[in-house]
Amino acid sequence: MSDPRPAPSTEPSPCQACGACCDYAPSWPRFSTESDEDLARIPAKLVAKDQSGMRCFENRCAALDGVIGARVACTIYDIRPDVCRACQPGDEACRIARDWHGLPRLA
Ligand code: SF4
Ligand code: SF4
Repeated sequence: MSDPRPAPSTEPSPCQACGACCDYAPSWPRFSTESDEDLARIPAKLVAKDQSGMRCFENRCAALDGVIGARVACTIYDIRPDVCRACQPGDEACRIARDWHGLPRLA
């Protein structure tokens, strides 16, 4: 019997050529609903001094690698905070961040 689940998309995510929401505001990559165990997996050097979220340099999250609008990667992708998982390409937060960076809105 064949697997009824849709095949995983092979399309690259637009996030890989964006990163705008990871370089928008130091209050953005905050911790919210993560468990203590989840948070303990994030390297301490990437966590803000007050433990409220990710460390940022000005607006940019310390875990972001690459060039905004060109090629980026989250260096802690598998253990990133829940707010990062919630932001989806084309949603309101995405539109705000891309507007701020002068990047075109996604459909
Ligand atoms: S969610 Fe939107 S703003 Fe964030 S990286 Fe993806 S495309 Fe860019
Ligand atoms: S943890 Fe990763 S996904 Fe979240 S803001 Fe930082 S670089 Fe972006």
